[in-house]
Amino acid sequence: MMSERYSRQQLFWGEAAQKELAAKHVAVIGVGAIGATAADLLVRAGIGRLTLVDRDYVELSNLHRQSLYTVADAEEAYPKALAAKKHLASVNPEVIIDAHVQDADQGFFQSLAAEHVDLIIDATDNFETRLLLNDCAHYYKIPWIYGACVGAQSICYFIEPEKTPCLHCLVDQIPLDGPTCDTVGILAPAAQITANLQVAEALKFLTGHTDKLHRNVIAVNIWDFHIAELSLQDCRNLSCSTCGDARTYPFMQRTQQTDFAVLCGRQTVQIRPKQRTLDFDAWITHLQQRLVLLKRNPYLASFDVEGHKVVVFKEGRLLIHGMTDPTQAKKLYYRYFTM
Ligand SMILES: [Zn+2]
Repeated sequence: MMSERYSRQQLFWGEAAQKELAAKHVAVIGVGAIGATAADLLVRAGIGRLTLVDRDYVELSNLHRQSLYTVADAEEAYPKALAAKKHLASVNPEVIIDAHVQDADQGFFQSLAAEHVDLIIDATDNFETRLLLNDCAHYYKIPWIYGACVGAQSICYFIEPEKTPCLHCLVDQIPLDGPTCDTVGILAPAAQITANLQVAEALKFLTGHTDKLHRNVIAVNIWDFHIAELSLQDCRNLSCSTCGDARTYPFMQRTQQTDFAVLCGRQTVQIRPKQRTLDFDAWITHLQQRLVLLKRNPYLASFDVEGHKVVVFKEGRLLIHGMTDPTQAKKLYYRYFTM
């Protein structure tokens, strides 16, 4: 029987495709502008299960392009993964949604593989995570869809292990340290187009319409208006250490990601302590004895530290805003946040 919810979609691709989709599990890595739209489209389309991961919280400067979030989310500094889950659950309660407030690290990708995820959608904002995702996707043989946007430019590329060149094969052809959305800005429609291109490919793959998959890089500029395709036929690098003949998966070998990482043009340094001895409540109480508490919710707390806003997450991560120098961040961290 045709479900009323999906009736218009089933007219397009039939009941069998809809059933296929309902049995599929997709992970969206990062729930910013691209990830929020991709997640929204997948949930509305009737995906069976969705896993979201994001390390950040909602801010007012996100709202012009991150379509799932509200002013209340920004005022509460609500973690994006949890805010997204809350809004998506009210859109389609039939979908199982898992939300994780953390970095997408190697352990996370390992858990996705253990849960037999069918597809990963890249909605991250940095190449460190993308190259780790690329290594893990090839190691565990999980297809994934690269997506990026900056300014008015969108790029999408479907990567299928053993069938297409991997991201590592292409790193010389895709700028790794070019402009970011925090340095040159971003138009909301560019993020929306990126997510729409990705989800269109995702839906083809998940419903078994693999003959319709687009194997080229798709690039769209909505301001100057042009659409380009980059053929990658000859781009597979046989000596690639991720997908070539002698694989070492170099980005998985970095067992611990950077402890002090400058985040994509955000004037922010992220710190991931190796261990923390106190639980979250005790830690916040301890910090409050020396620092001015700005805001607190069950998932994070922020403090004013020497004029910098420092956000402390429940799982132990810290963000130091207004800073791009890891050495300066280290000094602040060891002065105030270690016991
Ligand atoms: Zn490769």
